[in-house]
Amino acid sequence: MNFHILTLFPEMVMQPLMTSITGRAVKQNKIGIEAVNIRDYTKDKHKRVDDYPYGGGAGMLMQAQPVYDACESVISRLPEGKRRVIYVSPQGVPFTQQMAQELAENDDLLLICGHYEGIDERVLEEVVTDVISIGDYVLTGGELAAMVIVDAVARLVPHVLNNGQSAQTESFHGNLLEYPQYSRPEIWHGQAVPAVLLSGNKREIDIWQKNAAIQRTKERRPDLYRRYSELEECRKILMEKKLHHTDMTELVNRGRAVLVFRNEREILFRDRESGIYFHTDLNPGNKGSAVDWEAFSEQNPHAALRLHQEYMADMLQEKYAYSRKLCCKQMVYTRREKLPVSGLYSLNGKTDGRFFVRPLDFGEACLLEICRLEDEFPGMEKQIKKGSVYGCFLEGNLAGVMGICSDGSIGMLFVSERYRRKKAATALETCLVNRMLEQGMVPFIQIMEKDGTVFALQEKLGLCLAKERVFWLERK
Ligand code: SAM
Repeated sequence: MNFHILTLFPEMVMQPLMTSITGRAVKQNKIGIEAVNIRDYTKDKHKRVDDYPYGGGAGMLMQAQPVYDACESVISRLPEGKRRVIYVSPQGVPFTQQMAQELAENDDLLLICGHYEGIDERVLEEVVTDVISIGDYVLTGGELAAMVIVDAVARLVPHVLNNGQSAQTESFHGNLLEYPQYSRPEIWHGQAVPAVLLSGNKREIDIWQKNAAIQRTKERRPDLYRRYSELEECRKILMEKKLHHTDMTELVNRGRAVLVFRNEREILFRDRESGIYFHTDLNPGNKGSAVDWEAFSEQNPHAALRLHQEYMADMLQEKYAYSRKLCCKQMVYTRREKLPVSGLYSLNGKTDGRFFVRPLDFGEACLLEICRLEDEFPGMEKQIKKGSVYGCFLEGNLAGVMGICSDGSIGMLFVSERYRRKKAATALETCLVNRMLEQGMVPFIQIMEKDGTVFALQEKLGLCLAKERVFWLERK
């Protein structure tokens, strides 16, 4: 991912951003950061970039021409890809962790920094996609705001943080602030570290940290706590049909659920990461929906849906021109113990005739194979970049692929013809299940009804089958 900061003061942004974690990520080519001097693009012979505002008022305004030309010059040399052009301004939408997550999905971010009294509105209307504020106060220029956004987004880019998990347990994940933390010495100024943290009991520590996070959020951020409690309530209700709703409870567990609609019968979530909507009716005997699907379809004309009742799928197909993509059975790994690995695969490349399983890297030789798979599993490229797709190798050849799909389920299974019936799929799924358990997730898979071999594999690995089906709908 590349950041392009358009500013009158390049030195003000480059020095800090080239320090510490962001600086290291640039040196390791995980991200790119450049500062573009807007003054270099002025057509004024005295190199002026500002003028008096029409209608009077205090201060000067940055003119449209240099900002526009600087912006166009960056855009003209960018390859195809997802990009946003952000103007940082106190008049923008307040910046949040959720926005940082969404911005991290782009290939290029352009950040325009205003100075003086701001920028001529006409150029903003023409080039800007998002106006973002870092808080309700006025700074002298946009550089600090741009740096805040770059820093918060960059650390969410895969592999920028060494420990991929730390972004998942931090403040705002799942609408909670992080729990208090302690380091050596055990006693400082007469205050001891909470005993449980020294106990070595992982489960007890997890419980303590979760409770401490809830307590802290309740005290310091009642607004966040309210959102957390609402989703917790939904999670508890969904757990009454645990297997059928695992896809939805996992959205809550993994901090991805956004509650869109809820009444005593229905729950509608949006998955923050994939944008997919998940709906269930907790009392399907009554049929009928209180969700305004008309307005929903207008606002989200290409929404992908996961529905947990067939009558809803029929109704949306009939009335709102959705088409049914798949009808799936959901299978869930309900135990906490990891699956046995011995003799199946290794994670360190010492294969001894076994498979070597590791996350696929986007730039590797087997890319051709993977490109073909992208047609079969759209979105795979993005999941590879996130480190969520695993390859299984034998004698240096890619034998198979499996990963965590954009909706959080296990999927995208592919085994090369010549490596079939050699347990490549077992190795891949075992590895994925174990990785997910390590990260506190409940592994689950959604498979098509006729997929007998995949079904048999799930049974062999001990996944439990939900009685009811899940319906995938989409609208082109
Ligand atoms: N006259 C503007 C107003 O009242 O909205 C404020 C201009 S401010 C002095 C100069 C520049 O600093 C802005 O153009 C913007 O780029 C940046 N800036 C100031 N406060 C900001 C904030 N809270 N968030 C993001 N950018 C900010």
